[in-house]
Amino acid sequence: PATDAPAMESPSSPSYDWFQTDSSVTIVIYTKQKDISLESIIIDHQDGSFRAETIMKDYSYLIHIGLSHEVQEDFSVRVVENVGKIEIILKKRENTSWKSLGHPLEMHLSFIPRKDRGLYYRKCQLVSKAVVTPDTRLFCVALPPCTHLQVQAGHHVYLKLTIAGTEIVKPYTPVSDSLVSEFKEPVLPNNKYIYFLIKIYPSGLFTPELDRLEIGDFVSVSSPEGSFKISKLQELEDLFLLAAGTGFTPMVKILNYALTNVPSLRKIKLMFFNKTEDDIIWRRQLEKLAFDNERFDVEFVLSAPALEWNGKRGHISPALLSEFLKRSLENSKVLLCICGPVPFTELGTGLLYDLNFSTDEIHSFTA
Ligand code: FAD
Ligand code: NAD
Repeated sequence: PATDAPAMESPSSPSYDWFQTDSSVTIVIYTKQKDISLESIIIDHQDGSFRAETIMKDYSYLIHIGLSHEVQEDFSVRVVENVGKIEIILKKRENTSWKSLGHPLEMHLSFIPRKDRGLYYRKCQLVSKAVVTPDTRLFCVALPPCTHLQVQAGHHVYLKLTIAGTEIVKPYTPVSDSLVSEFKEPVLPNNKYIYFLIKIYPSGLFTPELDRLEIGDFVSVSSPEGSFKISKLQELEDLFLLAAGTGFTPMVKILNYALTNVPSLRKIKLMFFNKTEDDIIWRRQLEKLAFDNERFDVEFVLSAPALEWNGKRGHISPALLSEFLKRSLENSKVLLCICGPVPFTELGTGLLYDLNFSTDEIHSFTA
């Protein structure tokens, strides 16, 4: 029967194929889209079950197969961006010819809105934990060897722990291991590790339990989610970041990306709101980054400073913002990102509208 419901705008469904050599099996996904990257594909392969989820806009395409033969633990992934093709190359354990790739498992070849897919978790091992501020830690977890997962700037994952017999899940925003390259530990290869800056709340439900994990313990990590589009940074001239407390986390990768990949940007400014000096996450790194980069400025604002603090004080306010949000040129292309406690983000977003920035120029990070 005819309905008045508007047609759902979905991209056309991807398809896949596979071929083999003596030593390898290649699975090819044809997405029919051009804006795909290594972040568009999430692969988990364990106990013979092979799961490859391709994310295309708000849709998810799943290949889910029980492989017919054994393969080695490591595999490689390649994206041919201009034709929207993804290649996953598996190494056979034995050089025999496969008659089929395998048998279909649950939801194989489904192409559905992402929100209907449900979160998929894999167990990750805690590799390191470092104290950053009195109550914030930098956690590093290792993805299993047979997982390919990369988290886009500004996106988050869910961490899951079983606490007193109940599964508890909370969202966290992965960061890079540092803001300045000298701090990077060269021993850890890229992409197998996910870093988190997490504040421990002594009376919180989840974070005290997370803080009790020891190196080698496991925590489940979901596939990524989020609405921030990195393409918003293209052609940008001014980028303003307003962060409060751990609301700094989405800004980390955005800042790294902006400084290295957006040549059009004339100015990147971070206004970072905290209670006290001790609470400022990565203060020395931020100051070094600002010292080394003419394009980047940072300003710290404290709501409960010590008497001797001679920087900015107070909460987010019209006075603070109108002074801070000066465009490098009149009518420059601008983006404002804001993240922090809900009242901070709500108040701040309202103030940005009052200052005549448009919806298109503001990205508020919320739950
Ligand atoms: P909760 O049990 O939620 O409690 C938090 C605090 O509130 C505690 O001090 C607690 O005592 C107090 N509290 C709890 N209930 C009440 C109440 N009813 N009245 C008054 N006070 C109360 N956090 C990070 O540290 N890093 C991140 O990268 C990060 N990313 C996030 C990304 C997203 C998209 C979102 C939505 C949140 C993110 N968070 C992040 C916050 C994180 O998800 C948790 O909310 C946070 O870690 C607190 O969890 P918890 O269970 O330990 O504390
Ligand atoms: P905090 O309590 O240490 O406060 C940091 C600063 O936020 C304060 O100094 C103050 O300037 C400002 N602030 C706090 N309450 C305010 C209020 N009522 N009105 C105006 N300004 C206020 O912050 P925290 O404990 O680090 O909390 C960080 C928050 O950021 C958490 O609620 C977390 O859920 C949120 N967060 C959200 C995302 C996301 O949505 N993507 C990501 C990371 C963190």
